[in-house]
Amino acid sequence: MKPFAIGVTKLIKDPASVIHFELQGTLKDAYVTFSKVADDELVVVSGVVESVHQGLLVSGEIKTRWQGSCVRCLEDASGVVKVHFRELFEPEGVGEEDTYHFDGDVLDLTELAKDFVVLELPIVPLCASDCKGLCVTCGQNLNEGTCDCTKDDIDPRWSKLSSLSDG
Ligand SMILES: [Zn+2]
Ligand SMILES: [Zn+2]
Repeated sequence: MKPFAIGVTKLIKDPASVIHFELQGTLKDAYVTFSKVADDELVVVSGVVESVHQGLLVSGEIKTRWQGSCVRCLEDASGVVKVHFRELFEPEGVGEEDTYHFDGDVLDLTELAKDFVVLELPIVPLCASDCKGLCVTCGQNLNEGTCDCTKDDIDPRWSKLSSLSDG
């Protein structure tokens, strides 16, 4: 059985019931240009399935971790992905093409999990919100220390002013 699949036989027989679930698995190809959920990263999907007139209503939360490269300093960056969802699943062959569907008595949340996780991935990942980045001249990682470029680059005409303002 797929890790994010839920058997919903009980719910179809007894529409008044609900199914609580907590599923764990991994996702393939969940990435954007500069960040991703690794193929072996644990993804936890938890929530509840309810029967509604149009199908099955699934609501809950997805939790995992993203990783990527900091766009400023190019070092590894990572963080938590936590996203809530509430989506209708219609029976296969019913409703719009672009909604989620369930097949018979199995509801598979793999596609939903991937869709919601990808939307949460940082487009511009940072190792820290205050990352200082790299020196554009020498490439020094300015989080690790300063370089001498700034001083050297100052136009000599301004150096007097600069030393005044340095106090
Ligand atoms: Zn950084
Ligand atoms: Zn430098």
